[in-house]
Amino acid sequence: MYLYNSTSHKKELFVPNRPDVVKMYTCGPTVYHYAHIGNLRTYIMEDVLEKALRYTGYNVKRVMNITDVGHLASDADTGEDKMLKGAKRENKSVMDIAKFYTDAFFADCDKLNIKRPDVVEPATNCIDEYIHMVSKLLETGKAYFAGGNVYFDTSTLEKYYVFGEHDEEDLAVGVRDGVEEDSNKKNKNDFVLWFTKSKFEDQALKWDSPWGIGYPGWHIECSCISMKHLGEDLDIHAGGIDNAFPHHTNEIAQSESYLGHKWCNYWFHVHHLNTEGGKMSKSKGEFLTVSLLESKGYDPMAYRLFCLQSHYRRNLVFSWENLDNAVVAYDKLIAKIAGLNSEGEVDQSAFDALKERFVGALNGDLNTSLAVTAVYDVLKAKCNDATKLAALADFDQVLSLNLISAAEKLRKQQQEEAAASADPEIDAMVAQRTEAKKAKNWAEADRIRDELKARGIEIIDTPQGAKWRKV
Ligand code: AMP
Ligand code: ZN
Repeated sequence: MYLYNSTSHKKELFVPNRPDVVKMYTCGPTVYHYAHIGNLRTYIMEDVLEKALRYTGYNVKRVMNITDVGHLASDADTGEDKMLKGAKRENKSVMDIAKFYTDAFFADCDKLNIKRPDVVEPATNCIDEYIHMVSKLLETGKAYFAGGNVYFDTSTLEKYYVFGEHDEEDLAVGVRDGVEEDSNKKNKNDFVLWFTKSKFEDQALKWDSPWGIGYPGWHIECSCISMKHLGEDLDIHAGGIDNAFPHHTNEIAQSESYLGHKWCNYWFHVHHLNTEGGKMSKSKGEFLTVSLLESKGYDPMAYRLFCLQSHYRRNLVFSWENLDNAVVAYDKLIAKIAGLNSEGEVDQSAFDALKERFVGALNGDLNTSLAVTAVYDVLKAKCNDATKLAALADFDQVLSLNLISAAEKLRKQQQEEAAASADPEIDAMVAQRTEAKKAKNWAEADRIRDELKARGIEIIDTPQGAKWRKV
């Protein structure tokens, strides 16, 4: 598989450190609010990456953190703790907020067929690990204590901006929301590893440490949680593009300083979902969640298809019109699959040819839009339906669009409708009502309508005549 690596700015052949396992780490949600569908775009594409690796023969161990402490309003070290902000907003405790929104996050993931990573670790579980890493960084002169906080000293690094240039927009996201100068910092990019001197005195969760009672910085959690479960090296680290700076840049700085060697080989960044008005936000305008889509009648699978139709390294613009197009595409796709007949033998060589195209799309830097095209190629192929269904079921291990189950559901629904419409007794009553209407015998027509209604049947008068359905 070729994957674009944010450190080299090139597509590179993916070669894991070990043949038996791919070690993959993904930054998890900050559980102070619902995830918006932009956040979920990132998790969908990471899910596809994990599944594509498994599908192409790798064994993957994937770890994800849950940020329930330490993420301040700015991704730099200023502002209020987001968790505390959530707790205040809802008049609940930080732990209650964390539990509620962690559950909500995984409920959204389930709706979008996003697999739960093998290990999910809340940041508040790993305080000892942070203290250990920060202590070693202090001992080796990579960190310093100033004004009550422990800072990482970026002047000890040969290179800090490991990802090179970023779009100005991405950098702006990293340092958004009124960054204040912190006079304790020796260098402008130094970042906090451990806070004891919180600007917000009512910080809810605090722990004892060699430097006083306090709480960890945001970046340290991903380094420590990754090492706790995956050891001292990592094949793939994934996250949204806004995490590249400063979050991932700081993770690399502290991890490699701690380890004394290279830490992670491939950095996979998913670009943003924006609205037509710009950046997607939890605080501005309409807060776009999976539940909101559902309340407007959208199937979450249509949103998943919408995401898969574009490449993860392109910004994607969300609009209701774009989503409507995905709905039409999804419904057509499912209707076509529902029309396939499963009887017959799978033609193995035709199956292999279809699969080759699909695998080729995945191997080309996870080109999901080409992978979706491979689905359409299956439907157009000159092989029998059994082979098509086998290929679609196979591809759906990665795409997770419910291609087979949604088609089966539709087929069942269509069969039920057909069976219902084949009820001769009801047909006869509807015909009698039509006759009664023709004869202007309104009382009889109404009587038949009411009798059918009592039996749960609704008559619909159409230009082609009276039809009926079960209600
Ligand atoms: P957060 O819950 O804010 O820590 O973010 C969770 C994940 O969503 C991170 O990997 C972010 O980089 C990613 N993310 C944030 N905003 C967007 C967006 N508009 N589009 C795609 N991913 C995003
Ligand atoms: Zn992270």
